[in-house]
Amino acid sequence: MARNLLIKNGIIVTLGDENQVLYGQALLIQDGLIKKIAPQASFRGKYAKVIDAKGKVVLPGFINAHMHFYSTMVRGLGKAAPSKNFQEVLENLWWRLDKKLTLEDSYYSALLPLVDAIKHGTTTLIDHHASPFAAKGSLNKIAQAVKETGLRASLCYELSDRDGAKVAQDGIDENMAFIKRCAKDKDPQLKALFGLHASFTLKDATLERASAAGRESGAGFHVHTAEAQSDQDINISNFKLRVVQRLNKFGILGPKTIAAHCVHVDEDEMNLLRDTGTAVAHNPQSNMNNAVGVADIIKMSQKGVLVGLGTDAMTVNMLEEVRVALWAQHLSHDNPSVGFMEALSALMFNNAKIANRYWDPKVGVLKAGFAADLVLMDYWPPTPFDENTFLGHLGFGLAQSFVDTTICGGKVLMEGKRLKIGLDEAEVAAKSRELSEKLWARF
Ligand SMILES: [Zn+2]
Repeated sequence: MARNLLIKNGIIVTLGDENQVLYGQALLIQDGLIKKIAPQASFRGKYAKVIDAKGKVVLPGFINAHMHFYSTMVRGLGKAAPSKNFQEVLENLWWRLDKKLTLEDSYYSALLPLVDAIKHGTTTLIDHHASPFAAKGSLNKIAQAVKETGLRASLCYELSDRDGAKVAQDGIDENMAFIKRCAKDKDPQLKALFGLHASFTLKDATLERASAAGRESGAGFHVHTAEAQSDQDINISNFKLRVVQRLNKFGILGPKTIAAHCVHVDEDEMNLLRDTGTAVAHNPQSNMNNAVGVADIIKMSQKGVLVGLGTDAMTVNMLEEVRVALWAQHLSHDNPSVGFMEALSALMFNNAKIANRYWDPKVGVLKAGFAADLVLMDYWPPTPFDENTFLGHLGFGLAQSFVDTTICGGKVLMEGKRLKIGLDEAEVAAKSRELSEKLWARF
């Protein structure tokens, strides 16, 4: 890593509370952090490396608040039976696939989406992993891929009772082992959450044990929440509680917890999410793909719930996801004038707030003292470009532009659209194809 790195001649978009668009300023990176943003003329020293960002916008790296690396190996698999609803999607595809994953599959299925994340300027990913019959050590395998690509990721293992008591115990053990590793290593690239599949696949006794272990560790939880109406139906019929109420009963909610989806939550559940400080990760492409509905992120935001944006493995391109988030609100509210701030802010402001509940140094804002996680995107603004117009440019212009350079923790991972991570992408892809062919044969 260059000890220091100066980025000059770009338009700097700070985001964060100050939310400024700066012209004529340069950004100095030192020891993995943003050291200073100041008028260009004030930088007269010698720098180990200088990047000329002329014709480019300099932004914080994007953050993905809900991801599944392991989904990579399903791409092109045509063997799953057609599904009539979400429950069948799980049974016909995901729960057949994840049972067959090996540790090596977990590692390789993470590498390529991580490389893709670099290409799309995503520098922090919050993942949720499942490999029920190869759970032990799976998070370390994914962590190895994260380390090799230079990005940041929060990892967890999705505990569930759907494969019996032994597998459930493995799930608790894997979460706790990785939480302990992260607490010990204090690696700024890696964070841990306690993963839970979803309320409807967890018995009371398992939730009780997970809650006790997770809460004692101080890690929050990452759980699929009311993704489909069936999650509510099963919880109401089996446990006489709605999903969010049941999670609350077991102490799963809180400021360090991420409730993914929340498509089918009622107003009382939204209030509970807000009152406990629980973050919501909205995944519109996945929700529409699974035909489960569209989460009401407008109402949740109005109530004060912190709503971020994830992709649920549909993509690692956050700019694609944010556009879909906007169209989805227009359609679901039958109103083309609503949801803009809620959708765009979920990605550009709220994901940083969520990530900064875990990361230190903090990410997602270009400000002295923050992590030097940033992207340079090709963009010549065709209309006035400032704090007031930035989100419009993001959704309708930058989202169609190219990421030129991606930097994470001060390390240049891609420059001039060329990867700099010393990883042979072709070789990794060939190995991934070889492993997925074997996986498909076992499916
Ligand atoms: Zn998910």
